[in-house]
Amino acid sequence: MIDFDYSRATHEANALMEASQAGTRILAGGTTLLDLMKCGVEAPRRVIDIARLPDMAGIEVGVASIRIGALATMAQCSEHAGLRAAAPAVTQALALAASPQIRNMATLGGNLLQRTRCSYFRDPQAYSACNKRKPGSGCAALAGVNRDHAILGTSASCIAAYPGDLAVALMAFGARLHIAGKVARVADVDGFYRLPRNRPDLETELAPGEIITAIELPVSAALRRSHYLKVRDRASFQFAAASAAVGLELANDQTVRAVRVALGGVATRPWRAMPVEEALTGKLFTEANVRAAAERAVDGARAHAHNRYKLALTPRVVARALMEAGGLA
Ligand SMILES: Cc1cc2nc3c(=O)[nH]c(=O)nc-3n(C[C@H](O)[C@H](O)[C@H](O)COP(=O)(O)OP(=O)(O)OC[C@H]3O[C@@H](n4cnc5c(N)ncnc54)[C@H](O)[C@@H]3O)c2cc1C
Ligand code: SF4
Repeated sequence: MIDFDYSRATHEANALMEASQAGTRILAGGTTLLDLMKCGVEAPRRVIDIARLPDMAGIEVGVASIRIGALATMAQCSEHAGLRAAAPAVTQALALAASPQIRNMATLGGNLLQRTRCSYFRDPQAYSACNKRKPGSGCAALAGVNRDHAILGTSASCIAAYPGDLAVALMAFGARLHIAGKVARVADVDGFYRLPRNRPDLETELAPGEIITAIELPVSAALRRSHYLKVRDRASFQFAAASAAVGLELANDQTVRAVRVALGGVATRPWRAMPVEEALTGKLFTEANVRAAAERAVDGARAHAHNRYKLALTPRVVARALMEAGGLA
């Protein structure tokens, strides 16, 4: 049991002021934060509930861009007809995540800031060595069971996989985050997530006290022809072993004009697979070309004792997702 103060913000200025106090955590749907408090990873002194802030849950699908309020729930977004048509990979990523109950509570802002499912990270009582929880303490996963861990973007300090689905789709299509704080700003999703390097505890570029207010997604032909494929140990209520968000723009003669590929479940942050995009752009969209390009998804990958299967699985997931998007599957 931990004691903490709870208050509910009624407007943004009040939320920002409260959120900037030391030892304070923001609460939206609570499906991540309360979990982490229960397992002893988080112990805030104060919690500021932003779930009822006005004007932060809208979904606007425009001609040039899509804007989604950070308090929109995963369920609202995955069921939104306009969003489904304009950004299928985004709504599929949300629909394949968690469970219906969690999707009803969980917000998009909270989803982007969920933390790793590394079992050593989430069990402080049993494992003291975790650089993400306690910088400099070591990494129990390196010599432990690392089947679910990352093969891309790892460091000697941490090999934990980023677990979310939504951010993978946003990464593929160049989304930007609107952030309120001392100074309001807009950040590319690509630059928002940090690599672990020697400070795995620093996961994003969000400064203490800042609040994500909205997600903005540029509309494109590749986004309209997009697909999210998630492979996991069981068919629901499970995080990705490997996933791919892909989008395609094909010319009439089936030449690839534009292609977007991002990976989930295999990297320490949502991972844009640029080598695959470069290998396929300008080529004819054939199964052979897709499979050859998809092999590049694991360029630079490094496996550990139990996650070698991801080296073989990842290119297959990418190839399958591309073939689904392009009508070859
Ligand atoms: C059993 C289980 C299975 C799951 N499976 C999946 C899955 O398959 N795929 C997947 O993607 N996710 C999965 N999740 C994660 C789930 O989607 C997240 O817990 C949820 O999206 C978090 O949203 P929330 O609103 O509840 O966040 P909260 O728990 O309220 O907050 C999460 C974090 O974000 C911060 N925060 C929240 N909103 C903001 C904001 N607007 N600005 C700044 N900081 C903010 C909080 O301070 C906290 O640190 C699963 C969760 C559970 C419990
Ligand atoms: S992989 Fe990262 S999160 Fe997991 S134990 Fe090692 S340092 Fe901690």
